[in-house]
Amino acid sequence: MKYTLPPMPYAFDALEPYIDARTMELHYTKHHQTYIDNLNAALQDYPEVAAIPLSELLADLQMVPEAIRTAVQNNGGGHENHSQFWQWMTPTSSAMPKDQIASDIIKVFGSFEQFKQQMNDAAKKRFGSGWAWLVVNAQGTLEVSSTANQDTPLTAGACPLLGLDVWEHAYYLKYQNRRVDYMSAWWSVVNWDYVHQLYKHCK
Ligand code: MN
Repeated sequence: MKYTLPPMPYAFDALEPYIDARTMELHYTKHHQTYIDNLNAALQDYPEVAAIPLSELLADLQMVPEAIRTAVQNNGGGHENHSQFWQWMTPTSSAMPKDQIASDIIKVFGSFEQFKQQMNDAAKKRFGSGWAWLVVNAQGTLEVSSTANQDTPLTAGACPLLGLDVWEHAYYLKYQNRRVDYMSAWWSVVNWDYVHQLYKHCK
């Protein structure tokens, strides 16, 4: 079984003006595709590892033979994270969370604004490339965190609800070095319906 690009749920220009069409196209057809190609290449001679669902491998990297562990961590993480990232955005964002996730965010972080502030801080402080996250942690509590490179919260036993890609490839064409401007635009396209679905599943 080979990994392939999941269908993009909307047109490349659907998130304009927040995320530009050219960035979306390159991010999906080049960056995401490259993670998939490298993951398939790493697994090529390990059919017994390739048969295990990717999320299980990432949750327990010790299961992966050492010779391909770093390749699976980086490229498997890249495939897993980006497959969700396209769904974490939508042209019809409600801008605010709804339902249980909305009330639990307020319960844990004080307010939606304070939650956003924590996630923005996590994204801003991530040196170099990585992600900022809202997760259900291993103790079952909502938490903001960040990871380097393509590491996923699954590896720490957490369940990702929302991830913000802060690699330069996610914003450089439109925002150049202005990561903060990209982050504030990104909140306008968050797919809270999808976050809510994941929350039900994570709990
Ligand atoms: Mn990316």
